Amino acid sequence: MSLLYQTTGIVLSRRDHREVDRWYSVYTPSHGKVEFLARGGHKPLAKLTPHLEMAAVVDLLLVHGRAYQILAGVDRRQAFANIYDDLAGLVLAQNGLHLVDIGTRADETDPHIYDLLLDWLGFLNQNTFLSRERAGFLLSAFSLKLLALVGYRPELNRCLGCRQPIAPGAYQWHGLKGGVVCTNCTQIDQETWFAARPMTDEALKLVRFGLEEGFASHLRPHLKAEDLAGFYEATESLMISHFPIIPASSLRAACAVC
Ligand SMILES: [Zn+2]
Repeated sequence: MSLLYQTTGIVLSRRDHREVDRWYSVYTPSHGKVEFLARGGHKPLAKLTPHLEMAAVVDLLLVHGRAYQILAGVDRRQAFANIYDDLAGLVLAQNGLHLVDIGTRADETDPHIYDLLLDWLGFLNQNTFLSRERAGFLLSAFSLKLLALVGYRPELNRCLGCRQPIAPGAYQWHGLKGGVVCTNCTQIDQETWFAARPMTDEALKLVRFGLEEGFASHLRPHLKAEDLAGFYEATESLMISHFPIIPASSLRAACAVC
């Protein structure tokens, strides 16, 4: 294996290391999440890191060191400058990057996660000035898509118990078991399904819509407060039960500042 290699990635996060060095985390289509050190000692950080400070696609030159990877060069390939024009875009971009950062492990490659991020940033770059309500829905939809990619696709059509297709108005939601359960199953085996919660057809439709449709379609529907409440409850119960790390703030709280 060559010590020096080139890759393309999206910067997820950074953190300072000692006085002059900095750790970065990037998501790449070919190597999954990669963490590396940008050293201030040999090459001035000021020369390398401006390209790494924004939501951007960057070309990286990395060196495999004995214990970790070190940045040797960086070039910005694509910037998403419009995201910085409004707070909602910035909050959505940062939360999306953060969710990928905490929800993935280094060296697990999934090009679909890279594509999701690229799609997300491209969408936010083209659609600025989103309402708080719309921003919250979009971030939850992003979370659902990411959750499905990291291995926890919720069951939205068939009962988790008997596997029969669910009928409108005749099912409940079970976040921990990951989807819908028919009323019949909840009555037959109350012990297994005691944590199931009522859910409206409209809330379930929003979960399906958020998971399956593209972000551009998410701009269309009128979002009613009562439907959104059920949608958030379902989405957040999934995140809390199945996402590898529970995000520090809820999806709704994250967008409260938008
Ligand atoms: Zn059932």
